[in-house]
Amino acid sequence: MQVRINSADVKYTEKHIESRYCYHTACVCRDGDALTVTPSSTEFTFRTERTVPRLGVMLVGWGGNNGTTVTAAVLANKLGLSWRTKTGVKKANYYGSLLESSTVCLGSGPDGEVYVPFRDLLPMAHPNDIVFDGWDISSLDLGGAMERAQVLDWSLQEKLRPLMDQLKPRPSVYIPEFIAANQELRADHLITGTKAEQVAQIRRDICDFRQKSGVEKVIVLWTANTERFCDVVPGVNDTAENLLNTIETGGEVSPSTMFAVASILEGCAYINGSPQNTFVPGAVDLAVQRGVFISGDDFKSGQTKLKSVLVDFLVSAGIKPTCIVSYNHLGNNDGLNLSAPDQFRSKEISKSNVVDDIVRSNPILFRPGEKPDHCVVIKYVPYVGDSKRAMDEYTSEIMMGGTNTIAMHNTCEDSLLASPIILDLVILTELCQRISFCTREDPVFQSFHSVLSLLSFLCKAPLVPQGAPVVNAFFRQRACIENVMRACLGLPPQNHMQLEHKME
Ligand code: NAD
Repeated sequence: MQVRINSADVKYTEKHIESRYCYHTACVCRDGDALTVTPSSTEFTFRTERTVPRLGVMLVGWGGNNGTTVTAAVLANKLGLSWRTKTGVKKANYYGSLLESSTVCLGSGPDGEVYVPFRDLLPMAHPNDIVFDGWDISSLDLGGAMERAQVLDWSLQEKLRPLMDQLKPRPSVYIPEFIAANQELRADHLITGTKAEQVAQIRRDICDFRQKSGVEKVIVLWTANTERFCDVVPGVNDTAENLLNTIETGGEVSPSTMFAVASILEGCAYINGSPQNTFVPGAVDLAVQRGVFISGDDFKSGQTKLKSVLVDFLVSAGIKPTCIVSYNHLGNNDGLNLSAPDQFRSKEISKSNVVDDIVRSNPILFRPGEKPDHCVVIKYVPYVGDSKRAMDEYTSEIMMGGTNTIAMHNTCEDSLLASPIILDLVILTELCQRISFCTREDPVFQSFHSVLSLLSFLCKAPLVPQGAPVVNAFFRQRACIENVMRACLGLPPQNHMQLEHKME
């Protein structure tokens, strides 16, 4: 579907879609008990390049459950595969992708509201056209790794196997202390040398992929094991210069940060799909200096996604959640890695802050600093494999001392939920690289901030520019993406007022 805007505020040139857009905000001043609200507006010009480049994506942890599943899913979609299961014939699709499988309302036509796929709003890459490559510390080819993952139906695996067998991960950086000791057995495919030599090899790999595949743009995404947190130490990783120096001298730098540094130095956006603090201040500093996008942390796929909807619903309805207990058990390699205390701790931190902004938004229910009790448990149970079970109990206070308890059981087929998120992350990042904007006061076109907070919707612990508010609430995050895209088309934010249906 092609969307074309009929407005004096929107200009289509061969290269760009250019829109004039009035951004409305309000400034609030408090004086004792009185709040004074002053509306203001800023005139923006948004420019979106129309040509979509051939996109290459390099996955760190390509041979893992997510890496193999997303690669296989794209192949299956590209080939239009269908396969038999005991419940009938299934057909490849992109369910779970915001861009491919959800819609936005453009307005009303003679037959009522008109919805289009999100992907049709602006020119963006199609998942079927993405070329994958990547690294893994395990040497298994993608065919064998897909079988090891035990995610996809066997009859589909059989169809994909000859193609997947040809895909081989590149050797990777392994520093045993960062991931669980139980991962050692698969680490048979390594880049050797000093840290500086390893970063140089990653950079050569990126160049090699770009050259051999003919892709015009490369984005690197970490979907490898969760690492332990890295200490942030002044002089070691607090500035870009210190971080680069630490890589040269061989001090503490995690593999994920080494990949981030290599990507940024190659001008490639870098996305962190795991919870660890890859983006130490020095890595953020380097990205800002080089004007390269970084985004993360930790895919928001199952339990946390639901939490960011449910707590938003409770608090928005004036109900006070007082106790949230979240229990998971899973039996895939991610679960095995997370059974070690330091790696679990990274996940626990990432999962625990998701209600903070929602709670802070309601001072009627919560005093300053007050939060619900929030506990997260993860257990490794091999039998359930990738089919993670998430059980949550939400206890809330309702009117007049009453209690409301919601108990939930959610079977999250982990990698099938994470794979469409990986696609959305890279496609949105690529789109953002083609958007620039200026204001009437500052007419020089600029890009979004290097810390690409627009992707918060897809992340459990969104990384935002220093001083910017973190938004976890699901529908606010979604509205942000939709409304920014609408701005690029000179359309006002979706307001759901439907005044035309509320008049005599
Ligand atoms: P996995 O264990 O199946 O895959 C990880 C892969 O990374 C493995 O093949 C491993 O060999 C490889 N690896 C480890 N260290 C590496 C390194 N330094 N360089 C290159 N490869 C390395 O895990 P998964 O289920 O695919 O999940 C991947 C990551 O995504 C995990 O950190 C997980 O916590 C995170 N995550 C997953 C989900 C989800 O699946 N729903 C949601 C949020 C976050």
